[in-house]
Amino acid sequence: MSVVNITLPDGSSRQYPAGVKGIEIAQSISEGLARNALSIEVNACLPDRQGEIWDLSRPINTDAAIKIFTWNDKGGKYAFWHSSAHLFAEALEALYPGVKFGIGPPIENGFYYDVDLGDRPFGDEELAAVEKKMVELAKANSTFVRRDVSKKEAIDYFTKKGDEYKLELIDGLADGSITFYQQGNFVDLCRGPHIPSTGPIKAIKLLSVAGAYWRGDEKNKMLKRIYGITFPKQKELDEYLHMLEEAKKRDHRKLGKELELFAFSEKVGMGLPLWLPKGTILRERLEQFMRRAQIRAGYDPVVTPHIGSKQLYVTSGHYEKYGKDSFQPIHTPDESEEFLLKPMNCPHHCEIYKVKPRSYKDLPIRLAEFGTVYRYEQSGELHGLTRVRGFTQDDAHIFCRPDQVKDEFIKVIDLVLFTFKSLGFEDYTAQVSLRDPENKTKYIGEDALWERAEREIQEAADERGLKTIAVFGEAAFYGPKLDFMVKDALGRSWQLGTIQVDYQLPQRFELEYIGSDNQKHTPVMIHRAPFGSMERFVAVLIEHCAGNFPLWLAPEQIAVLPISERFNEYGQQVLDTLKNSDIRGFLDDRNEKIGRKIRDAEVNKVPFMLLVGEKEVAEGKVAVRKHGQGDQGVMDLKEFVERFSREFALPA
Ligand SMILES: [Zn+2]
Ligand SMILES: [Zn+2]
Repeated sequence: MSVVNITLPDGSSRQYPAGVKGIEIAQSISEGLARNALSIEVNACLPDRQGEIWDLSRPINTDAAIKIFTWNDKGGKYAFWHSSAHLFAEALEALYPGVKFGIGPPIENGFYYDVDLGDRPFGDEELAAVEKKMVELAKANSTFVRRDVSKKEAIDYFTKKGDEYKLELIDGLADGSITFYQQGNFVDLCRGPHIPSTGPIKAIKLLSVAGAYWRGDEKNKMLKRIYGITFPKQKELDEYLHMLEEAKKRDHRKLGKELELFAFSEKVGMGLPLWLPKGTILRERLEQFMRRAQIRAGYDPVVTPHIGSKQLYVTSGHYEKYGKDSFQPIHTPDESEEFLLKPMNCPHHCEIYKVKPRSYKDLPIRLAEFGTVYRYEQSGELHGLTRVRGFTQDDAHIFCRPDQVKDEFIKVIDLVLFTFKSLGFEDYTAQVSLRDPENKTKYIGEDALWERAEREIQEAADERGLKTIAVFGEAAFYGPKLDFMVKDALGRSWQLGTIQVDYQLPQRFELEYIGSDNQKHTPVMIHRAPFGSMERFVAVLIEHCAGNFPLWLAPEQIAVLPISERFNEYGQQVLDTLKNSDIRGFLDDRNEKIGRKIRDAEVNKVPFMLLVGEKEVAEGKVAVRKHGQGDQGVMDLKEFVERFSREFALPA
């Protein structure tokens, strides 16, 4: 009997009879693993390289590196949700004989299936009925059975069934590569992989119905796209649904409107945000925070125009790459002149580097600018402040020697982590994007420089205790990078700050410095933006803290609330005193009941309320209320300001 060598993720190797199945390997490792196993990755030769994900019941006939996936792995969840899509289809077909199916893939959270129900109505009631059927079928614990079929057999099956969508899909497949999966009475054209059986699908929720053109083409028929999600435990589903509810409440587009932070106007143009006074204060505070941190970290501020001559972007390569799909050149009465809206600040900064000769002793040079850039996004891609057509980057470019890359990375990592900490993002990871080791020729820059930079980025991240994942083949062709992902209060991941090495632009702009050897050298350029962009960062921040900004950021830190109009004058004195201490606030001198004033300040998420009435005026004090926490006692205004002075100030 022949044997196969199976390499496990820890690098150890075991021998099994040829034809061994994933589930058998799991059993040989531990009963617990076998119980939780959902799928298996086969031939994952390189770290963080995607192999093929297989069913646990599929025989392995060659040597392979494998990884068993459980619910904790993306590959496990995908198999689970893909199997749930089939379970959904089985239930739908049981209730709606003759239904036709498009595609039904797993997605980031859950799955969808595109279906043609003819003109049968399908709403909440129908969703609930299908959900119930799914629960019933899951309990039957049907096995997912994979079967190779010939193209003819596949065509015959779906011709007989009368599903023209599946026939169209089969048309694009090569004979010999086609597989069917069956569970219970339902057969689907499918590449897999699937979990062993329907039993583990314990908690099921069909979420919504949307329209989707077959194959995304509006000339085709509109199908119904039904979204759902499933979990191995009811508790996990409950938590997920709760998270969805919370996310709705925290949506930055909703809160941005309610808290009067920003707005959009069709007349101004799609994707061009208007920052309202309160949003502008918030944004300016973030800028002040970053400007001060950058000055301390040795950056020099610069300012450059919003447009640049087309030639600038021809030199940088941006025109060739993005010219056609972006805002088109601006013309002037001088026919030979053409300008582009600035899509990036880097070319301008390269020209600043070139204003005078640089020596190795001058480096690193760190040029920082809150630079507003314009990029044409498809209208369908625009989304609140997270996807816009004009935005401001907290941009900087570091020009340094190759031997300074690591130190500069460490400094930028420190700045990014300080930023996250100051804003209450405690859970973050970083992705190190490296070259594809099998295709080194598609990258520019010397091999030795790349190797060194890649190693040093990883070292810098390790030295700062950063949790990283290295991803091969994700580097830009001009340099490796480090991207930060933060988890917000709801556990959602967002990509924020980024640090990127660039070997290309310094060459294209012929940047140089005189080395200690008196020779000319090309500096390395590092692009970095800890926030990413002000727009996106503010959007994520709003959703993270649900609009309850830290005191130092809150557009209005204090509401002064006179108990009645008789105390408005004293209230004004209190406000004036606060303003003299650089505290932002307002006086609610409306002729309203105090209960109403408190409620409004709570709704607007103002961190502090200072109530003033008979007693406070007589004693020269204020009654302090904190947002969401209520009464904090009566105190001297001076005492109050001193007690919270640290929270009012920029974090240091
Ligand atoms: Zn499938
Ligand atoms: Zn740049």
